[in-house]
Amino acid sequence: MDGFKAEEIFNQLTGYTYNDIILLPGFIDFDVQQVNLETRLTKNIKLQLPFVSSPMDTVTETDMAVHMALLGGIGILHYNNTIEDQVEMVRGVKRYENGFITDPVVLSPEHTIDDVLDIKKKKGFSGIPITENGTLESRLIGIVTTRDIDFEKDKSKKLQAVMTTNLITANEGVTLSEANDILRKKKVGKLPIIDQNGLLKMLMSRTDLKKNRDFPHATKSEKKQLRVGAAISTHDQDKERLAELVANNVDVIVIDSAQGYNVYQINMLQYIKKTYPALQVIAGNVVTKEQAEALIKEGADALRIGMGPGSICTTQETMATGRPQATAVYHTAKIAKKYDVPVIADGGISTIGHIMKALSLGAGTVMMGSLLAGTSESPGDYYYKDGVRLKKYRGMASIEAMKEGGEKRYFATEESIKVAQGVSGTVIDRGSLLNFIPYLAQGVRHAFQDTGFRDLKALHAGLDNGKLRMQIRSFSSIREGGVHDLYQFEKHMI
Ligand code: GDP
Ligand code: 5GP
Repeated sequence: MDGFKAEEIFNQLTGYTYNDIILLPGFIDFDVQQVNLETRLTKNIKLQLPFVSSPMDTVTETDMAVHMALLGGIGILHYNNTIEDQVEMVRGVKRYENGFITDPVVLSPEHTIDDVLDIKKKKGFSGIPITENGTLESRLIGIVTTRDIDFEKDKSKKLQAVMTTNLITANEGVTLSEANDILRKKKVGKLPIIDQNGLLKMLMSRTDLKKNRDFPHATKSEKKQLRVGAAISTHDQDKERLAELVANNVDVIVIDSAQGYNVYQINMLQYIKKTYPALQVIAGNVVTKEQAEALIKEGADALRIGMGPGSICTTQETMATGRPQATAVYHTAKIAKKYDVPVIADGGISTIGHIMKALSLGAGTVMMGSLLAGTSESPGDYYYKDGVRLKKYRGMASIEAMKEGGEKRYFATEESIKVAQGVSGTVIDRGSLLNFIPYLAQGVRHAFQDTGFRDLKALHAGLDNGKLRMQIRSFSSIREGGVHDLYQFEKHMI
């Protein structure tokens, strides 16, 4: 057969990264929609899409985790925060019901118009249900919307005097499509959903009507809640964090260290496996066979692969340690396969081609930071610079993030001189995850089709038996493979 097996390419002196290799085309005898991207994140967690969002404070909080799971991937919540903050994020994901606001902000009749305006300013909405005592524990008695308060001059007026009491409500148990129908037919802006005792359980907003889609591929647990992961450090004090996360039904824990082959990680892994035997644990990061095998033997349910390929990362420059990512994925995935443990290719993913290459070299999933940091679901606000819409993105070992606690990943907590292993910067707007993830998935399906493989199992079998062919690219062929020789051009990812 033309081309080379992965084995021939990766068992030599040079280390390669995604851009250094190219996959050779195979035979296509199926439609692109027949490609199935189902995979495993860990031994026991299945995903419909091989996408994971990185535990970074500019990438994954509640909104990112909710949408990653809705679309068939999963989000890993960062831990550059208090235990309470991180646990509240887990709760937020677990509470989420598509289309429904599960913890609506409410006020009492004794509150004033000023209180509503204050909420409007801080949170951006002004449709506020009114309950007897201003909590979800008492009966719903009215609602205040902009229309009720627009022309009121006296902002200290009590809500009792302005609220609408003639309410259209639905009963608990109403389905998404039934509730959407009521909103549409009755032409109301808000639909409160109440239980048999008249307590407000959820709220629906007409503004969300367009976004209220069904997500048949959502990543859900047996309890039918969205799945979510959370990162912790290897430090002993994070055992408390771990206990809280587990108590709130987190689905998977990532033990986060930049060089994961260390005694602290092994101690933490042993502790988790002993204390919470059913909990899925992702260990890492590793890049060599020895590191991978050691963590697998301690019970890791998946491994996170990568040391230095991240877009914001300066580890290889500063620490002289790491490994080119394609080589790292190939060797660790190969040894992990012997133990039936999936690996996650973490970092350095900036195109659909990189995703395809990572999966082709044995990864079960890819973890992304920079690619997702520009979506509207990541934390932080957009801003404009030179007419370009941007969001902030920073390494967890950048000086900036370390000052807020991100150094736990890098053994630097007690040190007074900090050596950064990352930078902070900006990424461009990529719109909503609701469009971006399906775009990435469709691109990967096309890539599978070109190589002639219908699913990940077939691709990984091709990697093992040599049916998947590849080649090294010369420096000028990498140039040839990109856009070249144009006077100017525009390149849009979506
Ligand atoms: P309003 O009419 O001023 O309440 O605002 P809109 O309905 O136009 O927009 C409110 C947006 O905030 C919707 O996307 C809601 O899903 C979202 N939201 C999140 N939490 C709440 C909440 O507690 N109350 C309300 N009213 N909206 C919320
Ligand atoms: P990206 O997708 O942006 O290329 O890479 C994201 C990955 O980079 C993360 O999942 C994490 O493994 C790694 N990372 C995050 N922050 C830092 C950092 O400050 N320094 C280093 N060396 N790696 C980082």
